[in-house]
Amino acid sequence: MSKRIKLTGKFVIGHDGNSHVVYEDGCVVYQGDEILFVGHDYSGPVDEVWDTGKSIVSPGFIDLEADVDTDHANFDPVLWGRVPRPEATFQPGPKFRTVDPYTDEDFSVRQKYSMAQLIMNGITTAMPICGEQFHGWAQTYHEFEIMAESVKEMGIRADLGPSFKSCGIRGGQVDEVREKQSFEDALRYFKEYDGTAGGMIRGFINPCQIAITRPEILRRAKDFAVEVNAPMRLHACEEDVEWKFMLPKHGKTTIDFFDEWGLLCPQLLIPHAITLKDSDIRRLAEHRMTVIHTPIAEINYGAGLNSFSKYQTMGINMSLGTDAQPVDMIQNMRLAWDIDRFCEWHSLACRYNEDDTITDLMADQPDWPKTTAADYFNAATVNGAKALGRDDLGKLAPGARADIVVVDLDDLRVGPYEDPIRTLVVSCVGNNVRHTIIGGVTRMKDWKLVGVDEEKLRRDAQRVYEKYLSLFGEYDALGRGIDQLCPPSFPILKR
Ligand SMILES: [Zn+2]
Repeated sequence: MSKRIKLTGKFVIGHDGNSHVVYEDGCVVYQGDEILFVGHDYSGPVDEVWDTGKSIVSPGFIDLEADVDTDHANFDPVLWGRVPRPEATFQPGPKFRTVDPYTDEDFSVRQKYSMAQLIMNGITTAMPICGEQFHGWAQTYHEFEIMAESVKEMGIRADLGPSFKSCGIRGGQVDEVREKQSFEDALRYFKEYDGTAGGMIRGFINPCQIAITRPEILRRAKDFAVEVNAPMRLHACEEDVEWKFMLPKHGKTTIDFFDEWGLLCPQLLIPHAITLKDSDIRRLAEHRMTVIHTPIAEINYGAGLNSFSKYQTMGINMSLGTDAQPVDMIQNMRLAWDIDRFCEWHSLACRYNEDDTITDLMADQPDWPKTTAADYFNAATVNGAKALGRDDLGKLAPGARADIVVVDLDDLRVGPYEDPIRTLVVSCVGNNVRHTIIGGVTRMKDWKLVGVDEEKLRRDAQRVYEKYLSLFGEYDALGRGIDQLCPPSFPILKR
């Protein structure tokens, strides 16, 4: 029998059935993976009292685009640009999409390292996204067998599913053998792993984008997702490249095409979803769909959502994903709010003319309602849970799962606090997360992962990351290494 623990804190974020509510000087009582009580006074017996002092006691964050590799985004702002620079752009050579360069050990290391990062940032539920840049095809069944072991070892809650696609590159030749294999593997994985690890693992359907996956396959995937009522995540409308691909090939932009193929449904989660017409947004809302907003990852490519408020007001379920370094949900909430304010104030869309007039390129936009810190906190908690079809995640309430995060406010780096949610979003970062409890098990205590050799994990991850960096030189048609594609910021003088 697990211990009944009463955890107290300055601000306990409970839930009244409709909305988060804040219990000042409150407590949360949990036993095993179940929350028994949230409020001010608990009179029943407990085995242990854990006072977390001046803190925010929050439901764990839900990351629907959690990078479970060590590859992502460090140098994306350098590598990619609006104007193509062939001297800085990786060109696939003969080895590309032929072999998988990673060993089982490499996969295990990068998965566990990333999960450690997620846990340390207060993310208790993750729907992984893994870089497949140098994969032989998609993410394999076997890669996800290893992932399931990593999930069990690290103790994070995860929705898992290998990816599948029809061709290796955008507009490339369809490879029917590999398409069939990867699709069937994904369905087999779902059937075998959904609900395993004591319920910590759930399955999801994970096709690649429309430019590399045939609509026939997407349709079958969607039918499966609806049949088993599981989420299906499909990247779409990330950039105008897709728009320019879809129009000549299909005579339609992406959402019109998805609608024609019957893909729109509540189970479908769309990461990014930036290049949407207003009619597209309305259509997604009619189908009660979720957008996964990843502000840090998007801004690495000069992109941002226009606007969070518009999407939310039109009825989209707005959720969040990290999808880039740092794997910091709090910074993502902050940046999402910042970008929304750019849209609200039109500040980047104004031109100050020589004739002393101002041209506001967004003048035709209605004034969407002002968003608040609560909107972004909801996106990182209850809205993510809704996207996963889970009523027992993203909130601290009796009967919910015991996924609890404690953010320390007794810290000069945070500054004085006021409203806890605003303080969290504006003044805190992931490093202020002090304790993380998942499924009732303390996975991080006082900023230390419990039962994890952090030093070994860091060493191993650095080795795997350096291997990844070396792959650029191996896979590039011109043999250019990462030093050439992304020159150092300053000259590095070796000893
Ligand atoms: Zn993404």
